[in-house]
This record gives sequence, structure tokens and C-alpha cells, in this order.
Amino acid sequence: MSITRLVELQDIDSQLEDLNALLGDLPKMVDELNEKEDNLKSKIESYKASLKEITLNTSKSETINTEIHEKKDKLKDQLFLVTNNKQYDALSSEIEHLQLQQKEHEDLLISYLEEKENLEDDIKENEALLEDLKTDLNIRRNKLDQALSETAEEKKLLENSRQKQIVEIDEGIMFVYNKVISARSGIAVVPLSGNSCGGCGAALPLQMVSEIRSGDLHNCQSCGRFVYNKKN
Ligand SMILES: [Zn+2]
Repeated sequence: MSITRLVELQDIDSQLEDLNALLGDLPKMVDELNEKEDNLKSKIESYKASLKEITLNTSKSETINTEIHEKKDKLKDQLFLVTNNKQYDALSSEIEHLQLQQKEHEDLLISYLEEKENLEDDIKENEALLEDLKTDLNIRRNKLDQALSETAEEKKLLENSRQKQIVEIDEGIMFVYNKVISARSGIAVVPLSGNSCGGCGAALPLQMVSEIRSGDLHNCQSCGRFVYNKKN
């Protein structure tokens, strides 16, 4: 395999990287906004579930309260019919007991009401946040879609030629290439610069330089990049 294929592959990969750089932070931003949107949505949903529960509890307490009220009224009517003090005292203490129960449920109803108001405020607040976020998200999604579609054709062509190069390159060499390109910020193949590596500037053994000049495959001992002889 000649070094030319690696040089071509490097060129394709550099072009692909330039295309991705065009998108900038947009994909990451859209991801983050999507996540925020999901969080807000589940927050609102859980508030709504709590609100539903409180509404249910409120109506339960109201029913019980009405029942206590009716019972109390009945007992009060009976007070007029009693014939002795003992009966009167018994009824009175029962009424008192009901009154305490009633007070308990009324307090409960007040706390439900407060909780309900708080939840309704929280829901409103988060729904407003969600609305704002959606506007922001839509703008960025559209931008990203547009940028993606503008580069799509070019990207596809580059990826096709990348594939064609790769099948011609030895697997072991591809392994090294991939390792070096990710470790050396996207540049794995560099030209000779005098007798030195064109990537890191390290001096190369003269024997190696002469073999590189005759087209042999060598990696810089310092940075690991493939070094080739650039013919002008
Ligand atoms: Zn080097």
C-alpha cells in the first residue's frame, strides 16, 4: 500500500472535520435544550398529578365535613328532647367532639387550598418557561436542520470516497491511523519538513528520512504521525 492513500484519507477527514466545525456548538445546544424541555415537561406532569390528588382529597374532606355538619345538626335538635341532665351532658359532649372533628377537616381544607394555589402557580410558571424554551428550541432546531441539509450532499460524497479509501488500506494501518488522528487533534498524516516531522518538528533518523523519500511508510517516533514526502 502506498502512503498516497493515507494522504488522501487525511485530506478527506480534514474536509469532514471542517464540515462539522461549520455546525459549531449547534448540535450540542439543541441536545441541551431538548434535555431541558424533557425535564420541564416531567416537572409539570408531576405537579399536575399532585394537584389531582389534592383535588380528590379536598372533595373527600368536604364530603366528610358535610356529614359531620348534618350529624351535629341532628344532635342539636335532640337536645330539645332530652329529659334529664345526664342525657343532655352526653349529647353535648358528642356535639363537642364532632365540632373538634369539623375543625380538623376545615384546617385540612385550608391547607389543601394553599397547596393547590402553590401548585397552580408552579405549573403556570413552568409552562411559561416551557413556552420560552420551545421558541428558542425551534429556532435552533431549524438552524441546525438547515445547516445539516446544506452540508448533507458534500458530507455524503466525502463519506463515500472515505469508504473507498478505507477498503484499500490495511486494517493494522487503519488502526494506527484512527488512534493517532484522535490523539493528535485530527492530523495523522504530515509531510516531511526537511529532515524533521512536519507535525511535531522532531528530527527523524536520516535512514528513515531516506526511506520516507523513497515512499516507505513510517511513523514519527515522537508524535506517531505518518510522515510522507511531499512532491512539489
Ligand atoms: Zn512528529
